[in-house]
Order: sequence, then structure tokens, then C-alpha cells
Amino acid sequence: MGGIALTLAVLAGLELLPARTLDLTAPGAVSNLYLMTASGNAADTAVQWLDADHLHWRCNYTSFDKYQPCGLSFSLTGEDPVRGRDLSRFDTLEMDLTYKGPAALVRVAIRNFDPRFSNADDGNSARIHSVNLRPRDIQKPVRLELSELTVPEWWVSQFNLAREYNRPSLENAIALVIDVPSDMAGQQHELELRRLTLKGEWVSRDRVYLGIVCAWMLGASLMLLHGWTQLRQNSNRQQREIDALMARTRQLRIEQDKLRRLATIDELTGVLNRRGMEQSLDDFEEACQGMTLVMLDIDHFKRVNDRLGHDCGDEVLKRVAAVVAANLRASDVFGRWGGEEFLIACQGTRIRDATRLAEKLRERVEQSEIHSSGGRINVTASFGVALAPPGAQAGGALKRADEALYRAKEAGRNRVEMDRALQSDAPTTV
Ligand code: GH3
Ligand code: MG
Ligand code: MG
Repeated sequence: MGGIALTLAVLAGLELLPARTLDLTAPGAVSNLYLMTASGNAADTAVQWLDADHLHWRCNYTSFDKYQPCGLSFSLTGEDPVRGRDLSRFDTLEMDLTYKGPAALVRVAIRNFDPRFSNADDGNSARIHSVNLRPRDIQKPVRLELSELTVPEWWVSQFNLAREYNRPSLENAIALVIDVPSDMAGQQHELELRRLTLKGEWVSRDRVYLGIVCAWMLGASLMLLHGWTQLRQNSNRQQREIDALMARTRQLRIEQDKLRRLATIDELTGVLNRRGMEQSLDDFEEACQGMTLVMLDIDHFKRVNDRLGHDCGDEVLKRVAAVVAANLRASDVFGRWGGEEFLIACQGTRIRDATRLAEKLRERVEQSEIHSSGGRINVTASFGVALAPPGAQAGGALKRADEALYRAKEAGRNRVEMDRALQSDAPTTV
């Protein structure tokens, strides 16, 4: 919005800005103004002012022996005769000239001194830019484009300069001349110049337009850059937030896993607790592969607690769990089923192998070196073994293992009993 307002203001200002003006006919506008004569003698009566104040003069040539200028010259130099005015910033010339006489053309010319080839001693060496006008075309005030003033052929061929020196250029104009360039023998010419004004713009419109376009492009680029930077910052911030969320999620997952693990681990012995075991049994059930269960219970454990203290009892529990765990395969699942009772689930194991395993464990527990302050503690355990065939629920097998364990207790403890239903047709496999 601000950009549009500024652009309009600049364009309006451009319209309102007064033109650059150089009125050569204003009093004192030029340092020197003189009529040109053929002889160079100001007293030559062939060329004379009719009214110098109103720039009104007459040329009266009775004979013709050579080129005889009849004109008015405005000197555009100061004290230095080769240092003129820069007219390149002007683009029009407004002229109000009256001509009376037989000439076919009136000429307007500007001399530009170029030190690369112009010579102070030869006025003609300053490049001439001229336009020839028919008297009828200047009956009314005219407005000439300075670009209409071209370098004439005769000057180009006279000096025979390199091409670039023949190009029109008014950067150092030393004189402006209005004259009658034709053959004037026996003729009388009368001219009155009422106004001669150069006009131009203080600021080049093209440059202003270019400046406006550049400013808009720069503005648009800056806005794009700003937008892009904002987007980048937003995207970086969002990426950081996503990273932080992902890190938090990972952390939560680790903690969740830890909690889940803790929830299934028996704190005292470090093996699975009842919940962990139940989950494993569910998994086995789902796999439908069948399993053998070995349930063991420490014999007379109450006595350990009673005689040696609860801490010692805890130690016994830990040691028994460690002895059992050390004698199992990686595929066996082992946990504390409750109190001083443990459960082993062997997936896909034959009942005979499970019974052998139970027997081995019984021996290892019996042989285990568990000491208290009072000396070695004799620890034994009783075992019950049962089978859960593929597709069967673990609950039934658990019950049968418990019953077998009960029988082992009944039969004197420190022994292995298997599910009664299997005793008849052993060995059975799953
Ligand atoms: P049985 O040979 O018939 O199995 O006799 P028992 O004494 O081992 O069995 P009982 O069920 O009479 O006693 C089990 C004891 O185990 C009772 C209970 O205080 C103790 N107990 C259960 N959990 C823990 C525990 O975490 N630490 C300790 N120290 N003792 C426990
Ligand atoms: Mg017991
Ligand atoms: Mg018990």
C-alpha cells in the first residue's frame, strides 16, 4: 500500500516538477551575443541591427564573392573560450523567430567543442549540429527537439574524423547560431528573434521509471527474502519441536518398557512374577504348541523364616531362584508363582524331558550351598509336572501340576511327581 502511494507521489511529483529552462533571449543570459558578418568587422553595414534590444537585424548583401553569413550567434562560453555549457540535459528548443526575405531555409545550429579534435583557433572544428527550417514552418513559434539537430554531411567530410567523433553530443556547447545558410547575393534578409528557450527535465523520466521498477523489484525481492526467512525459521522451529517430541516419545517408550518389565518382574528374585508368568502362559496358549509345566515349592520354608529370620528366608528364595534359572534353557520360562513357589513352562518339551529337568533341578537345589550365620542351610524343594497339550488351556495343566506337587509333599517332600493322568502312558510328548 505504502509502495503504491510512494510510486504515485513520485509520478505526480514528476509531473509537477518545473522544467529545466535556459532562456537565451533573457537579458544577460549569455556572455556574448553578436551578429555575424562576412568581413568579421562589426562595423560592416551589410549586417546591422535594426533594434538590438529586440534582437532585430538585417543583412543586405549587394554582391557575392564568398560565403557570407547572416546570423546571430549566442556565445555559451565563459572566460574560457573552449568551455561551454552542457546542453545534453535539454531536449527541446522553443523559438519565436520572424524571418522576412527570399531565403529558402533558416538554420539553427549548435557548436560543440570536443578537445579530442576541436581547435580553439578554428571555430569550425567544433562539431556543428544543425537543423534547416523553412520560413513558412517558423511563422508561428516552434518547438524543436534537440535530437532534430544532426551533424551535417559537409562537416563530417571536411574533418574526416573517426566515426565516434561524428555522433551528435551537446555536452560542451560553445555557441548557438541562427542564420540564413543560402546564397545571399543581392538579397536582403530581416530577422527578429523574440524568444529562444532551451527546455529539459530536471530528472530523466526514463531514469525515474527505471528507478521505480528497480525499487519495486527490490521491494518484492526483500519481501520474498523476508517470507523465505520466516518460512525457514518456522520450519526450523517446527523441526526442533518435532525432534523434541520424538525424543520425548522415545524416552516415554523406554520408561514404559521399563515399567512394563518391572511390572512383570519379581523384585526379590529378579525372575518373572506371577503376572509375567501368566502373560507367558497366554503367549504359549496363543502359539498353540502345547507346553509342560513344572511347579516347585520349597520344603518347610516356614521353618527357615521362623528359625533364621525373614531376611535369611529371602536369601534362600533368591538362591533357589538363581539355581533353577541357571539350569534352564533359553526357551524355558521361569517365574515366581507366589510365596516360595515357582513355575517353569517349557514349550514343546516332552513330559519325560520335563520330568528329567525337574529331577535335575531337585538335585541342584538340594546340593546348593546356602549359608547363614549359623552354617549351611539345607534346602530342598518338591516338584509337580503336568502337560498342557497343544490347544489346551494352561489352567488345567496348572491345576494338575499343583496336584502333583501336593502329592510330592505328601510323599515326603524333596521329590518329583508328575500328572497322574500321564503316569499310565508315559512317555508322552507334546
Ligand atoms: P511345605 O513344606 O508344606 O511347603 O511347608 P512350608 O513351610 O514351606 O509352607 P508354608 O505354606 O507353611 O509356609 C510358607 C512360608 O513362606 C510362609 C510365608 O511366611 C513364607 N513366605 C512367603 N513369601 C515369603 C517371602 O517373600 N519371604 C520370606 N522370607 N518368606 C516368605
Ligand atoms: Mg513350602
Ligand atoms: Mg507353598
